[in-house]
Amino acid sequence: MVPERRLREDLIKFGRLCYERHLLVAMDGNLSALLPDGTILCTKAGCHKGFLVDDDLVVIDRKGRKLRGVGNPTSEMLMHLACYEERPDCRAVIHAHPPISIAFTIANVSMARCVLPEVVLTLGTVPTVPYATTGTTSLADKIRPYVREHDAILMDTHGAVALGSSVLEAFCRLETVEHTALITKAARDLGGAKELDPREAAHLRSMGLKRYGGPPAAVARADQPGADLPPACVGCSGCANPAPQGVAPRADLKMARVVAQPLVPSPLVEAAISHAVLRSLQS
Ligand SMILES: [Zn+2]
Repeated sequence: MVPERRLREDLIKFGRLCYERHLLVAMDGNLSALLPDGTILCTKAGCHKGFLVDDDLVVIDRKGRKLRGVGNPTSEMLMHLACYEERPDCRAVIHAHPPISIAFTIANVSMARCVLPEVVLTLGTVPTVPYATTGTTSLADKIRPYVREHDAILMDTHGAVALGSSVLEAFCRLETVEHTALITKAARDLGGAKELDPREAAHLRSMGLKRYGGPPAAVARADQPGADLPPACVGCSGCANPAPQGVAPRADLKMARVVAQPLVPSPLVEAAISHAVLRSLQS
């Protein structure tokens, strides 16, 4: 059990890191950790995560009622409570607004694809939860089936939620989601983001769940064909956003996959080429 003093230090340190790594700005986002007695330490509403101090943390019970501290708990606490309820293995939750990942959801492009081997190994796929108003029971209820099966999820037009057995692990998962989005976007800008061979993706995921663990529901499927990757990913048949059991997949999301597009120079590159040609003609 990690003592409260250490968890306070972790929330302050990783809250600041979230800001420094451009995973949130201003008063965005919120962090929480499970205390040894089962209550929850979380950031209060309206505090800047880049300048977090000890007074920005409050203690709440499992119903969201404040027990200690100054100020109100974050308005998005229902989301955190849902994570702890659905995942008894979860000890920390970070919610942030990573810009490139959010852009994927706004553009209706799914990030639930097997693109980077080490991400498939450690995180599997990253689904997008349908839109719901921030801070509501509706949003908390919508994320429940997703966090049961995933350690990191995106929420449509809003942000990301990452769970972990420690604040560090939740932060690593959040950072990985945004890094994957950056790489996938760069590949798309260069002409297309190819995907892993489905058999290799399934092999990697199975290996990762056994080696590094993951959601208990996913670990239980580690030996099954395709492990916890949705069937459409295993066959790479092009479902846009694999959904948990009992949740209808969204048909409006496009796949991240865009292949065999010609490499077209951007207007900036074209202008630079024209300028260089002009200079060579003038010299
Ligand atoms: Zn938010």
